[in-house]
Amino acid sequence: MRRWPVLSIRSTVLLGIAMAVLAPTVTLWHLDERLTRAAQEPLIAQNRQAVLVMTAASLVEPMWTLDEKSTRSTAQRALDEPWVNSLRLTENRPLAQPTLLTKAGVEPRQGVFLKMPILREGEMLGELQIGFDPGQIDRALADRRHATILLAALQVLLSVLVLLAVLYRRLLVPIHRLKRQASEIASRADVAPVRWDRRDELGQLGEHLNEVHVQIDGLFDQLEAQKAELEKIAMHDTLTGLPNRALFRELTISAVADARRHGGRLALLFIDLDRFKAVNDTLGHAAGDALLVELSERLRAAMRASDVVCRHSGDEFTVLLRDVKHWDEVAATADRLLKEIEKPLRLGARLVGVSASIGVALFPDDASDHETLVSHADTAMYVAKSLGRGRCSFFRADFNTQLLLNLQLEQELRQALARDEFELFYQPQVDTGTGALTGCEALIRWNHPQRGLVPPLEFIGAAEHCGLISEIGAWTIRTACAQIARWKIAGVRFGSVAVNVSALEFRSHRLLDTLTAAMADFGVQPHELEIELTESVLMTDTDTTQVIVERLHALGLPLAVDDFGTGYSSLAYLKRLRPSKIKIDRSFVRDLPGGDDDRVLVQAIVQLATALGIRVIAEGVETEAQRDFLRRIGCGLLQGYLISRPQPVEGFERFVRCDDVAALAATLPEPVAA
Ligand code: C2E
Ligand code: CA
Ligand code: CA
Repeated sequence: MRRWPVLSIRSTVLLGIAMAVLAPTVTLWHLDERLTRAAQEPLIAQNRQAVLVMTAASLVEPMWTLDEKSTRSTAQRALDEPWVNSLRLTENRPLAQPTLLTKAGVEPRQGVFLKMPILREGEMLGELQIGFDPGQIDRALADRRHATILLAALQVLLSVLVLLAVLYRRLLVPIHRLKRQASEIASRADVAPVRWDRRDELGQLGEHLNEVHVQIDGLFDQLEAQKAELEKIAMHDTLTGLPNRALFRELTISAVADARRHGGRLALLFIDLDRFKAVNDTLGHAAGDALLVELSERLRAAMRASDVVCRHSGDEFTVLLRDVKHWDEVAATADRLLKEIEKPLRLGARLVGVSASIGVALFPDDASDHETLVSHADTAMYVAKSLGRGRCSFFRADFNTQLLLNLQLEQELRQALARDEFELFYQPQVDTGTGALTGCEALIRWNHPQRGLVPPLEFIGAAEHCGLISEIGAWTIRTACAQIARWKIAGVRFGSVAVNVSALEFRSHRLLDTLTAAMADFGVQPHELEIELTESVLMTDTDTTQVIVERLHALGLPLAVDDFGTGYSSLAYLKRLRPSKIKIDRSFVRDLPGGDDDRVLVQAIVQLATALGIRVIAEGVETEAQRDFLRRIGCGLLQGYLISRPQPVEGFERFVRCDDVAALAATLPEPVAA
C-alpha cells in the first residue's frame, strides 16, 4: 500500500488553509476574466460603432462645404479617441487624395477596421474607415487583472491570518495540551489533573483523559498492591504468616554479610516438633494446623524484633538470632522457646502438650554460609532428638557437654530445693576498734549428697540461668529470718544479718513480697536484716534500680554495696541510692598493708564513705597487719577469716559466746581458727 508522507497537524492545518483559500481564489479569478471578456466585447463593438458614426456625422458639413482644414481637424479629433489607431478618409471628388492619419508608433495595417459611407441628402460624399486598437479589451482586462490580483492577495492574506489565529487558539493549543497530558499519563508522572475550562470536543476529550488518568492510577495502585501481596505470599507461609524458607534464606544471607562486616555473631536454631505426626493422626489435620499457628505465634512473641522466626516446612521452624554475644545466651533463648512450646494448648475440647527439639549452629564458629548453618543446625537437632527430645543441642560438641552439665546441675538444684539440701553459714562482722560483733553475713552452702559441701559460686550462676535463683533467694531470706527469730528467743546476740541478693533476684517482683512476708512471719525488725547488692547491680538499669531501692528504703531495710570498687566505680549512685554500708572488695584488702595502689585506694574509699556518712566494712581480712592498717585509716568494720570463717549456726553461736566473754574481759578478740 502506498504510504502518504506523515504530516504534523500543524503542517496539515497550514496546507489545508492554503488549499482552501488559494484554490477558490484562483478559480474565481479565472472565471471572472472570462466573464468580463464576454461582457466587454459587445460594449467595445458598440463603442467603436459609435465613434465611427459620430466621426462620419461630424465630417458631413466640412466635406460638403469643401472646407479641407475643418475636415482634417475633425478627422484629427477622431484620432485622439483612445482606442483609435488610424483613420482613412476617401472623398468622392475628382482629384481628391485620400486622407490617411495614423497614431504615432502604431502600425497602420494592424487593427480592427470599420467602414462607413458619408452621405448628405442621399448624395455620397466619401467613405470613412477607422482602424481600432485590436488589444483594447486585453489592455482593459490586464488593468482589471492587476487590481484583482491585489485584492485576491489581500483577501488570501487576511483569510489566512484570521484562520490561523482561530485555528491556533481553538485547535493547535488544546491539541498541544492534550498531547502533553497524554504523555504525562503515559509516563506515569505524579501530576495533578489538567484543568479544562472549554466545553467543546477537545475540552471534553481532555476531561476524559483526566478520568482515564485517575482510572489508570487506580489500576496501577491496585496492581502494585497485588504485586506486594503476591510477593508477600511468595515470601511467607500461608498458614502461619511467618517468613518462609526463601525469605529466611535471604535474611540469613544478608545477616551473615552484615555480621562478617562488623565482626558480629549469629545463631541459627533449627526447631523440630516432637511427635507432631501423632497430633495430626489422632486429632486431624485441622487441629495440627491450629497447633502450628498457635506455636508460631508463641515463638514470634518470645523473640526480639530483630530476630527472625520462619516456618521451614511441616513441623519445622528455623530461627535466626542476631547480635549474639555468648553461646550461653543462645542456650537461654532456646530454653525459653522450648518452655513456650511446652506450655499446654487447647485444641477443641482437648488440652494438648507438645515438645520440640532444637539444634543450634553458630556463625562464624560452626559455619560461614546459610546452607551450612542450616545443615549443621539440622544435624544438631537430630542429636537433641537422640538425647531424648524436648531439649536443645549445639553443633559444637564442647558446648553440648557444658549444656549437659548445666542441665544436670539444674535438675540437681531443683532436687536440692525439694530435699532441703541448702544451708546458711554465718560469718561475723566486727568493730575494728573494739572487736565487738556488729552483725554477720549469711552465705549459702549446698550439702550435696555425693559432692559434699558445694560453695555458692559453683551453683548460683546456674540457678540464675535456669530461673531457680528467686526460689533459692526466697529460701535464703526466709531461713535467715527464721534464724533471727530463733536467736532472739535464745538470746543470742547477732547484730544484724546480711543476705546476698543476686542481680536477677533483685529485679524480680517477688523480692519485696518475700522480704515483707518473711519479716512479718518471723517478727523480724528492719534493722535486724541487711541487703547486700553488688555494685554492678546498682549501676545497671538505673531507673528500675532506683525504684526498687526506694521500696527497700521504705521497708526500712539497710543496704550494703558488696564488692565495692570492682564495678563501674562511678560514685554518683552512692549519693542517689544512699546505701548504709560499703563493703571494700577482698581484692583491695589482700595485699594490704603493702601494695601502694591498694593502700591509696582503700584509704580514699574510707575517706569518701566517711564524708558521705556511709559505714565501711573491709572484706576478706586475713592478717593482723591488714586489720591494723584498716584500723589506722579509720575503716570501722571488719569481716574475714582473721575474725572467723563462715560457720554453721552452732559454730557462729560459739563465736558469739567467745565474743561475749572477750567483751566481758574487755580485751581484743583472738583470731578464731577455721
Ligand atoms: P560475697 O558476697 O563477696 O561473699 C564473701 C565471700 O568471701 C564468701 O564466699 C566468703 O566465704 C569469702 N570470704 C570471707 N572472708 C574471707 C577471707 O578472709 N578470705 C577469703 N579468701 N575469702 C573470704 P562464699 O561463701 O563462697 O560466697 C561466694 C559468693 O557467693 C558471695 O560473695 C556471694 O556473692 C555469693 N553468695 C553467697 N551466698 C549467697 C546467697 O545466699 N545468695 C546469693 N545470691 N549469693 C550468695
Ligand atoms: Ca556478700
Ligand atoms: Ca563481697
